Amino acid sequence: MRVRFAPSPTGQLHVGNARTALFNWLLARGSNGTFILRIEDTDAERSTRESEGEILRDLRWLGLDWDEGPDVGGPRGPYRQSERLHLYQSYAKELLGADAAYYCFCSTAQLGAEREEAVAAGRTARYAGTCRRLSRDQAAARIAAGERPAIRFRVPEARDVVFTDIVRGDVRFHTDVIGDPVIVRADGHPAYNFAVVVDDALMEVTHVIRGEDHISNTPRQVLLNEALGFTPPEFAHLSLVMGPDHSPLSKRHGATSVAEFRSRGYLPEALVNYLALIGWSPRGPAAGRTAGDDAELLPIEELVRRFSLDRVGHSAGVFDEEKLAWANRHYLKTADAVRLARLSLPYFAEAGVRMAPDDRGLEFLASALAMASSSVDRLNQVPGRLAFLFDYAPARTLADAALREELSADAARSVVAALAEELAPAPRLDRERFRAAAHQVKARTGQKGRALFHPIRVALTGRAEGPELDLAVPAIDHGAELPESAGIPKIIGNRERAAAFSRALGGIP
Ligand code: GLU
Repeated sequence: MRVRFAPSPTGQLHVGNARTALFNWLLARGSNGTFILRIEDTDAERSTRESEGEILRDLRWLGLDWDEGPDVGGPRGPYRQSERLHLYQSYAKELLGADAAYYCFCSTAQLGAEREEAVAAGRTARYAGTCRRLSRDQAAARIAAGERPAIRFRVPEARDVVFTDIVRGDVRFHTDVIGDPVIVRADGHPAYNFAVVVDDALMEVTHVIRGEDHISNTPRQVLLNEALGFTPPEFAHLSLVMGPDHSPLSKRHGATSVAEFRSRGYLPEALVNYLALIGWSPRGPAAGRTAGDDAELLPIEELVRRFSLDRVGHSAGVFDEEKLAWANRHYLKTADAVRLARLSLPYFAEAGVRMAPDDRGLEFLASALAMASSSVDRLNQVPGRLAFLFDYAPARTLADAALREELSADAARSVVAALAEELAPAPRLDRERFRAAAHQVKARTGQKGRALFHPIRVALTGRAEGPELDLAVPAIDHGAELPESAGIPKIIGNRERAAAFSRALGGIP
């Protein structure tokens, strides 16, 4: 099996296209097949190398590696259409020679007018066939006179084109509704329908798996295969990924690109797993179901093992970010802690905490992350949960009117003062030592429950809420112990925090 993902580098990788890539990849990996990445950049105005680079980066981030492609090469290259123009030229010549294609001199303005007329009259717009009847000599004369024609494929008249789609069964089109498509534009660039046929044939693609927005292109491609003497590949058209209102997922639904979901803090395995469940179910076609309804989260190896096209449904799959968040929560809980620590660095940087931790620093972050990762949906929420470690300033805490009032009451003051005294001579706190210290403060002040622990929390974390103190307090001192070389920004220890907070309270009448 040879399959391909063929993005046009005209923007970010949309999650719908990422799902197409994923389905192709799963099939290739599950059948010892080959996964090809082909860049369809013949639209010179809209294609950019930057977008190509981003698409490659996002596929890699998802873990979808390719066996042949623009960067890795392969036996059927080149894998960028812009580097294959000579091939399209030569096949177009062949079709011209066989009279299966003809030169078309119609101007854009003329074609536009014809289209408008058809639409106004309620007809489907298709090429009127003006240049179909030009003789070779007439065409040659016009070219000699300096006109630059496009090349059109001559669609055979009055017959059916039938192909069997793996997802939708037999699909039939009558050629009378298919206008002759342009295969090479006047500027010499091939049109999509032509390039795709030449490339799929030369790259020996066996299965074309793509979005159903291409289903109406398929009869043209079947006919072009026929005219060029190629055996057409098998086709499978996937239903599109929809927003909650059942229209194709687009900007107005919110995030649509892989890059956006990454920057929101989703893990690649969560996105991959969730995308696999849109329109496919490990238990049978997911007709009418919202992806994720069957609460089936499978690691990638298991997806590879179980994926097959006969369990792909043909009704549209709805993308539900809540379900994605659910998958993400699952993977945040099960992912390797040090990996999560590494993955969280860009989100910390975005939140203003820049760091380049070494192994010790990563290990510290990983243990701190354990406090946060069970209570967040996404990695970008982690820095907020752990801000108390890096950002501690009693004056700022006490600028909050409610906290100021709470902490400057006599009972709370006595708790903070006793805490500062208890910690002054104490070694760094682990959980047991913290409990013992809290016990001493309780004995000295007579405060208990919230009246004891809330002032302690505010004094040590600078915040009214956060992770369990039993975890947060030891994490603060673990961080404070780290040498500078660990690459973690300086963390103020509990002892110093208690003293500073007590001093700050002393300044409040
Ligand atoms: N470049 C086309 C697209 O991005 C590829 C379609 C196909 O797979 O044939 O939609």
